[in-house]
Amino acid sequence: MQLTKLEIKGFKSFGDRIVINFDEGITGIVGPNGCGKSNVVDAIRWVLGEQKTRMLRSEKMENIIFNGTKKRKPTQLAEVSLSFKNTKNLLPTEYTEVTITRRYYRSGESEYLLNGVGCRLKDINELFMDTGIASNSYAIIELKMVDDLLNDKENSRRDLFEEAAGISKFKKRKRETLKKLKDTDDDLDRVEDLLFEIE
Ligand code: ATP
Repeated sequence: MQLTKLEIKGFKSFGDRIVINFDEGITGIVGPNGCGKSNVVDAIRWVLGEQKTRMLRSEKMENIIFNGTKKRKPTQLAEVSLSFKNTKNLLPTEYTEVTITRRYYRSGESEYLLNGVGCRLKDINELFMDTGIASNSYAIIELKMVDDLLNDKENSRRDLFEEAAGISKFKKRKRETLKKLKDTDDDLDRVEDLLFEIE
């Protein structure tokens, strides 16, 4: 699976639409301090579904929308799209080209799209689960993450190996199923109580 294109518009320092094409091999982003290199990484993390503003180096989500400059008005919307080549079918979808898009409006509304069609954050999360490129995966490694791994903070080393081994999605499904079982048990208890009262 290859990352092919990143489009950013109205996100952090990028008021105008920018497009970064990723060719085969390694792509490096260089530039002077404060020019927006880390904002590009934040955009990738964000479009993959990151919900923690701390991970986006922001205090609140609204701060990720372009705030304007002396010459430019702030924008009302932040939009990031990330495209992948899925010729090896590593992503569980029939599409060979996959583009995910996330939009966030100043009003607080947000939207996710998969190949231009509205979807849920859950769909994006499930698409990338166990591929190593989810927003919380090892695809993006910042300095703090290296510290956490070295100190094995909150079982971070185990989580990393589980994601790499492809078992995270099964653990998630197990959690969901156990929750459903518990809810069903609770419902059954309630039905038994009602039956007891009626009798
Ligand atoms: P360094 O090399 O120092 O780490 P960098 O190239 O990684 O810098 P970034 O941290 O990506 O730079 O970008 C910082 C710039 O982004 C700052 O000038 C900041 O004002 C700008 N910025 C962040 N959020 C917004 C926003 N919502 N609207 C406009 N500009 C923003």
